[in-house]
Amino acid sequence: EAKKVKGGASRVFTPGLKTATLDRLRLLEDIRNALYRREFTLLYQPQFSIGTRRLNGFEALARWMHPTRGSVPPDIFIPMLEEHGLIEEFGEWVLETACSEAMRWPDDLGVAINVSPLQVHAVRFSLKLCETLMRTGLRPGRLELEVTETVFLDGKQQTEAVLNNWKALGIRIALDDFGHGYSSLSYLGNFPIDKLKIDRGFLGQFDPSQPQAKAGVILDTIIDLGRKLGMTVTAEGVESAEQLEHLHRHGCTEAQGFLLGRPMSADEVRQIISARVTPPPSNRD
Ligand code: C2E
Ligand code: MG
Ligand code: MG
Ligand code: MG
Repeated sequence: EAKKVKGGASRVFTPGLKTATLDRLRLLEDIRNALYRREFTLLYQPQFSIGTRRLNGFEALARWMHPTRGSVPPDIFIPMLEEHGLIEEFGEWVLETACSEAMRWPDDLGVAINVSPLQVHAVRFSLKLCETLMRTGLRPGRLELEVTETVFLDGKQQTEAVLNNWKALGIRIALDDFGHGYSSLSYLGNFPIDKLKIDRGFLGQFDPSQPQAKAGVILDTIIDLGRKLGMTVTAEGVESAEQLEHLHRHGCTEAQGFLLGRPMSADEVRQIISARVTPPPSNRD
């Protein structure tokens, strides 16, 4: 990691680990101010129904535009926010920003946001949810909250209560990166989950020319599982037409990935939406 440190002659004399630590400390100082300096932005990645090619909505994905380092990916800064008690405030900003933005879209388009396990267990977030829905006027059915399997690890009862509250508000719940982490399947039957998002890794390992290979079998089984439980099944990280075709044939209902659209700015989303009016994409095939 020390190699990534830019400039700084000290690199030559300082042991790598120490440099990396100092670098993290500097980044931490910066991230404390990033919210106030408005350095965070949300990009939006489109999600489509596979069968009809209909645009269903967008997933909001956070970016940190660091003044000197450029764009810092969320895999780096989300854990930092979590470790240092900043994730709640950040998560509220995400919620607020995404809901306000979605209010500028047609009513049939949804917006999904990623929710950290720490937020799920924070009372403040659930209160903020109600408040934000009321203030923005966003129809709750248009909002989807993406949680990962780790929320089921601790405080099962509490998690169940929180998710049931969200459902009672009319919000939809998606299980992100399904199959990636801790995976007792029992919670699938016990929690109110509307959507399974198959972890990108499964699609990455899948070879369309060998659909009977293990990766293909796992993929198809996850799709079956979600469908039989009455959930929407979304494939993440769809990069090729062959993958999309396979997913379609095996009953996967929704897709998201670079093949169909990259994460884009709010402005780009509005352009796409206004262009959509005539003719809708579904008329092309
Ligand atoms: P995720 O929620 O699973 O988001 C999907 C990730 O896959 C995104 O990475 C997206 O840019 C990427 N992706 C989408 N399509 C493709 C594709 O076809 N190929 C490949 N190779 N990648 C694709 P990103 O934006 O770097 O986000 C990484 C993770 O950071 C997210 O994974 C999510 O867990 C987390 N994250 C992002 N924004 C937020 C946020 O606002 N709050 C929280 N708590 N976490 C966030
Ligand atoms: Mg997600
Ligand atoms: Mg995911
Ligand atoms: Mg992820």
